[in-house]
Amino acid sequence: MEIAVVGAGIVGASCAYYLSLRGVRVRVFEQAGIPASGSTARSAAGIRHQFSHPENVRMSLYSASVFSDFTRLTSHHAGYRKVGYLFLLPRYEFETWKKQRDMQRELGARVELLSLSALRHKFAFIDTQGLWGASYGPDDGIVDPHGITTGFLSVARKHGAILHLSTEVLQLDWHHGCWHLDTNQGVYRADGIVNAAGPFAAELAKRAACQIPVAPYRRNVYLTAPVENFPHPSPLIIDTASGLYLRSEGKRFLLGLSNPEEPSSTSLAVDWDWLESTLEPALRRFPFLSDATLDRDACWAGLYAITPDHHPILGRMPGLESFFNACGFSGHGVQHAPATGLILSEEILDGEAHSFDISAYRYQRFAVANRTVETNIV
Ligand SMILES: Cc1cc2nc3c(=O)[nH]c(=O)nc-3n(C[C@H](O)[C@H](O)[C@H](O)COP(=O)(O)OP(=O)(O)OC[C@H]3O[C@@H](n4cnc5c(N)ncnc54)[C@H](O)[C@@H]3O)c2cc1C
Repeated sequence: MEIAVVGAGIVGASCAYYLSLRGVRVRVFEQAGIPASGSTARSAAGIRHQFSHPENVRMSLYSASVFSDFTRLTSHHAGYRKVGYLFLLPRYEFETWKKQRDMQRELGARVELLSLSALRHKFAFIDTQGLWGASYGPDDGIVDPHGITTGFLSVARKHGAILHLSTEVLQLDWHHGCWHLDTNQGVYRADGIVNAAGPFAAELAKRAACQIPVAPYRRNVYLTAPVENFPHPSPLIIDTASGLYLRSEGKRFLLGLSNPEEPSSTSLAVDWDWLESTLEPALRRFPFLSDATLDRDACWAGLYAITPDHHPILGRMPGLESFFNACGFSGHGVQHAPATGLILSEEILDGEAHSFDISAYRYQRFAVANRTVETNIV
């Protein structure tokens, strides 16, 4: 069996890894000249167990175990550092997060709720005005998305996978029992397609004559110059009331806030008009930042691939022969890449994914009126 994976970001690399380990001949097609140059290169690199949907927690648990064991598995480094994730909670959110904490713990994740005094004691640099407490995951943290992509791809290549760089898939047609991939480097054939095209997943689906609800949205990451006299590293902190997040990167801080009014686009230009709206809640919550300088040259923007319910679209595409989606991660694709590769390999080789219940992620869910939504999206 030969499978064509479109996209050499962290998700495509993971799919190539799991498929090639099971003996599938894999070709990975990437339009850029290097792997991991799309959203994977532009993420905040956070991983966490604090999701509202149980299957997302299970995917985090599995993926974190792969990141922990990554050097043994691939001889590359995942760069997993358990700096923690801290969600700052106002009173009206606390009960919901208590229920979530119980669910997350039941599944095996280490998550604890901090009272206001515990929060002040542990993280004295936060202005706690308007807060009731926090949810803290000590095993959450950050990884190296580039190292993980490279590690997955190198093992896949050892198992025979072929990486076609600078190769854009222009058109996909199913005829005579296989897929024909028309690319800028010629035509290839495959028995199945994995759509791991990140923010361009809907565009790729269109080239196979189908539609999926995934849209690209710009996200800005603003970076400060090094901040001395701070007990680095800080956890990745999310102020749930404003949506602002912040974490340290070496001695710098990176911070971001989604602009809910911004329409879908593929712009990668930093939105300087949005800086003020980001700094306002940041300075209120983290007063020490008033001494920090912004490093304008180090700031960047990247693309989220967003679905209407903030769940990815995983698995077989109904109505299309041997076309599989691995896209629409809505801002959490780095951390769920290992679980996704496993899911896709099972879906393709065993007929159906069985290590995870992906009913909430299948394309068919869009036909259901009362579907679940992942609420803990940054
Ligand atoms: C600012 C920001 C912060 C983020 N923070 C986090 C975080 O903290 N934690 C987390 O888990 N996630 C985070 N994310 C999300 C995460 O980056 C993505 O979910 C993840 O990188 C998706 O990986 P991917 O491989 O699907 O996509 P990509 O890395 O975008 O890879 C897709 C690849 O497909 C290629 N491609 C597309 N179309 C074609 C075609 N027709 N032919 C050939 N190649 C094609 C593209 O060139 C690209 O390289 C963040 C994203 C952004 C933008």
